Amino acid sequence: MDLVVVGNGMVGQRFVEALRERDREKQWRVTVFGEEPRRAYDRVALSSYFDGASADDLDLVAPGLYDSPDCTLYLDEAVTAIDRAARTVTTGRRTVRYDALVLATGSYPFVPPVPGRELPGCFVYRTLDDLDAVRAAVRTAADHSRGRRAGLVIGGGLLGLEAARALRLLGLSPHVVELAPRLMPLQVDEAGGGLLRDMIEELDVTVHTGTSVAGIQEADLGPTGHRLLATLASGVELDVDLVVFSAGVRPRDQLAREAGLAVGERGGIVVDDGCVTSDEHVFAIGECACVGGRVYGLVAPGYAMAEVAADRLVGGRATFVAADTSTKLKLLGVDVASFGDALAATPGALAVTLHNPVARRYAKLVVSDDARTLLGGVLVGDTSRYASLRPLVGRPLPGDPAAMIAPSGGAESGPGSLPPDAQVCSCHAVTKGTILDAIAEHGLSDVAGVKSCTRAGTGCGSCVPLLKSLLAEGGVPVSSALCEHFDQTRAQLFEIVRREGIGTFTELIGAHGRGRGCDICKPVVASILASLDHGHILDGEQAALQDTNDHFLANIQRNGTYSVVPRIPGGEVTPDKLIVLGEVARDFGLYTKITGGQRIDLLGARVEQLPAIWRRLVDAGFESGHAYGKALRTVKSCVGSTWCRYGVQDSVSLAIELELRYRGIRSPHKIKAGVSGCARECAEAQSKDIGVIATEHGWNLYVGGNGGFRPRHADLLLSDVDTATLVTTIDRFIMFYIRTADRLQRTSAWVESLSRDGVDGLAYLRSVLVDDSLGIAAELDAAMARHVDCYTDEWAEVLADPVRLRRFVSFVNAPDTPDPSITFAAERGQPRPVLLEVAR
Ligand SMILES: Cc1cc2nc3c(=O)[nH]c(=O)nc-3n(C[C@H](O)[C@H](O)[C@H](O)COP(=O)(O)OP(=O)(O)OC[C@H]3O[C@@H](n4cnc5c(N)ncnc54)[C@H](O)[C@@H]3O)c2cc1C
Repeated sequence: MDLVVVGNGMVGQRFVEALRERDREKQWRVTVFGEEPRRAYDRVALSSYFDGASADDLDLVAPGLYDSPDCTLYLDEAVTAIDRAARTVTTGRRTVRYDALVLATGSYPFVPPVPGRELPGCFVYRTLDDLDAVRAAVRTAADHSRGRRAGLVIGGGLLGLEAARALRLLGLSPHVVELAPRLMPLQVDEAGGGLLRDMIEELDVTVHTGTSVAGIQEADLGPTGHRLLATLASGVELDVDLVVFSAGVRPRDQLAREAGLAVGERGGIVVDDGCVTSDEHVFAIGECACVGGRVYGLVAPGYAMAEVAADRLVGGRATFVAADTSTKLKLLGVDVASFGDALAATPGALAVTLHNPVARRYAKLVVSDDARTLLGGVLVGDTSRYASLRPLVGRPLPGDPAAMIAPSGGAESGPGSLPPDAQVCSCHAVTKGTILDAIAEHGLSDVAGVKSCTRAGTGCGSCVPLLKSLLAEGGVPVSSALCEHFDQTRAQLFEIVRREGIGTFTELIGAHGRGRGCDICKPVVASILASLDHGHILDGEQAALQDTNDHFLANIQRNGTYSVVPRIPGGEVTPDKLIVLGEVARDFGLYTKITGGQRIDLLGARVEQLPAIWRRLVDAGFESGHAYGKALRTVKSCVGSTWCRYGVQDSVSLAIELELRYRGIRSPHKIKAGVSGCARECAEAQSKDIGVIATEHGWNLYVGGNGGFRPRHADLLLSDVDTATLVTTIDRFIMFYIRTADRLQRTSAWVESLSRDGVDGLAYLRSVLVDDSLGIAAELDAAMARHVDCYTDEWAEVLADPVRLRRFVSFVNAPDTPDPSITFAAERGQPRPVLLEVAR
C-alpha cells in the first residue's frame, strides 16, 4: 500500500521513523515530499546555527533511511494539490497516488500587517534559509553601518527572545518589542516577567513592552548608516539594520482547506484523537493539526501525534491525550521555565510564590484548591528544579509546596518522589519507569547511554539533570562530568590542560571531549586557560568562549551600558588620581559611586566609549579592576597602624602588596580579600574568601568566608605568622583552589567539600598548604610565581594593540549618536538610567 507524507520537518520525520519501527513487514511504501531544500533538521536547536553548529550538525535523518526503494524522499518539491476523490497528490513535477496520506506541513511565521513589513531587511525566523538570509543581511550591514549595529525583533515570546539572542551572537544590539506588558506573556506571570526582563536586559537586549511597531521605513544611509527606521506606537524611533518578525506562528492548513478538509475556527486541520482528519484516509500531525480544538506550537505534542498516527496505520488504537506544554528558555545566562498551568487559570487554583529580587530568583508553584495536587509553575533565575517538578504536574504534592521552592529545600521534589509512570522526558514521552528499566536491563552507566537507549534527553535537554539523578537511583554512581561534552570534572580538565600544555578550547575538546561545547564548558575552559596564562583573554578563539562581561572587559548593566571599575589597590588613591576619576566621570557623563570594596564604580558607559575612557585612565596610571571576571576583585583594608591609634600592623601596605600580587588571576569564582590592622576588624576581613587580621605578633589568616547570598564567616587557618609565611600560604591557597574547585564553586563551599575520612576541610587544607602532605607545594609556589611574573594589564594591552582594539574600533570611530533606547535622567546631580516605559 502507498503512503504519502507531506512535509519533512521534525514531526514528519519522526512519523516516518515511528512507522518504520512498527511496520516490520513493510506493508507501507512511503513517499515523502519536503518543500525545503534540506531533509529534516532540528528546528528546536535552530539558533545553534549562529553558535557554531552547521546544517549537518542539525540533521535528524538516520543514515540509509531513504535509500531503499520502499522509502523515498523528494526535497525542494512542495505538494500543491490533493485530489481526495482520486487519492492523489500533485507537485510541480509529478502526481502520486496514495492509500493513506499524512499531512505534516508545520506552521508559517505570522507577520502582523505593519506598514513596511515587505521592505528588504525584514525577515522571519523559522528555517535554515531564513537564518542564512539574516546572516547575509548582518554582513551587509557591517559594510555600511558606521555606528553600533542594531536589530529589532518584533515579539517578546519564547522565539522572539531566542531570535534576539541570535542577533546578539551576530554582533548586533537587539531591541525586542512586545505588545503585552511583559516578556513571554503566555508562559510567565507578571512578577516572573519583571525579573526575566532584568536578566534579558543584562544581555544587552533592550526591551520595549506594552507597545507595538507602528511602521517601518527605509532610512537614507545617514550618519549612522542604518537601513531601517522603525517607529513604535509609543513614539520611540529605532534606527536598525534589520527587523525579525517573531510574532507567533499559524498552522499551514492551506493545502487541506483547498482539498475540502475540515479546519478549526482559528486554523489548523481538525483531527480526532487518532490524528485522523475529516477524511478517514488522511491524517494530520504536528503544528498543522488542530486536536481537541487546540493547535500545539511545540515539538513534544507533535512527536506524540506522530507515534499515534504510525500506530493507527499498523492497525493499533493509540490515542493522543492533551499534551505537556512546558517550556524552558534556551538562552545563555538566562534561566526561565514554565510548566503546566503556569498562569493559575484553573478555577480555585492557589499560587505559592517565592520572590527574591536580591538573589534574582522567582519561583511559583500553582496547586489545586485543596493544595494537594501540583498544577504548574514558573521558575525564573534558577531552573534547577524544573526537571524534577515538571513530571509531578497533575500528581499529588509530595510535600509542602513552599518547601519545594525554598532555596535550601527541594528534597521532596527529587526523582525519588516520582512514581514510575511520571513522564521525565516530555519531548519523547519517556517515563521514569522506562528509564530505570533501561538502566537495569542494559547496565547503563551514563547519560549518553540513557539517551541512546531511550531517547530521553535528546529533545530540549531540560531533563538531563534528572537522568543523572535516576542513574544514581538505579545504583550507578552519579557522574561528576562537567557537561555532556567532557567526562572530566573542572579540576581534572585543569590538570589535563596544565600537564599537556593545551592552549585552546578546540585542542582540548578534540583530544579529551566531544561535540562543539556549550555555555557550561566554554567559559570554564576559558577560565582555566586564563588561569594558566595562555595569553590575552580576547585573543583568537578565547574571545568567543568568554561570558558577555569578559567579552568587553566591562560589566554590562541593566540598561545595556557598561561599568568602568579601575583597580585601586588596598583602597589607597592619590588626590591626583582621584581628580582624574572625577574628570573622566564628568566628561563622559558617568554615574559615580564608591563601592564596598573600596574602589570607585563609573557606570553608564556605552560600549563605543569604553576604549576612550580607558585610554584616559590608563594614561593616569590606572589598570583594570577585573570587576567583570571571575578573578580577584579587591583587598579591602583599614588605615592600620600608620594612622589608627589601635592598629598593631600596617594593614594598608599588606593589602596593597596582596592586591598587586593576585590581580588578574582567573579563578573558579570571584575572590575577595581583606586586611584588618587590629582585632576591631574594620576591614571586615572575616567575611572574605581570604581574610587577614593583625595581631601583636604578626598575622592571623582566615579562609573560606563570603558575604554573598549565604553569608559565612571565614575560618582561622593560621595564627601569628610572619608576612612571608602568610603570603606563601595565601599563594598556595589560591593556586590549590584554582586547581581543584568545581565550576562556580566559591571558596566557602570548596573548603567544606575538602572534608573527608573524618578530617575537616580546614585541617586537610592546613596539611596540604603548610605540611605539604600532597608534595605539591613547590608546584603551587611556582605557578603563583609565574602568574606574578606574567601579569599584564588587560586594558593597557587592548589599547596598545590595533588587532585587539578592532572589536572596539567601529565604536570608537562611531559618530556620537546615542542609542535612542539608552536615556538618562538626573538624580541627586548624577545620571540615572531611564527605562523606556518610564520615559513614555
Ligand atoms: C527557532 C525555533 C526554536 C524552537 N524552540 C522550540 C523549543 O525549545 N521547544 C519546542 O518544543 N519547540 C520549539 N520550536 C518549535 C518546533 O520547532 C516545532 O514545534 C516543530 O518543528 C514542529 O514540527 P512540524 O514537523 O510540525 O513542523 P516543521 O518542523 O515546521 O516542518 C514542516 C515541514 O513541512 C514543509 N511543508 C509545508 N508545506 C509543504 C508542502 N505543501 N509540501 C511539502 N512540504 C511542505 C515545511 O517546509 C517544513 O519543512 C522552535 C521553533 C523555532 C523556529
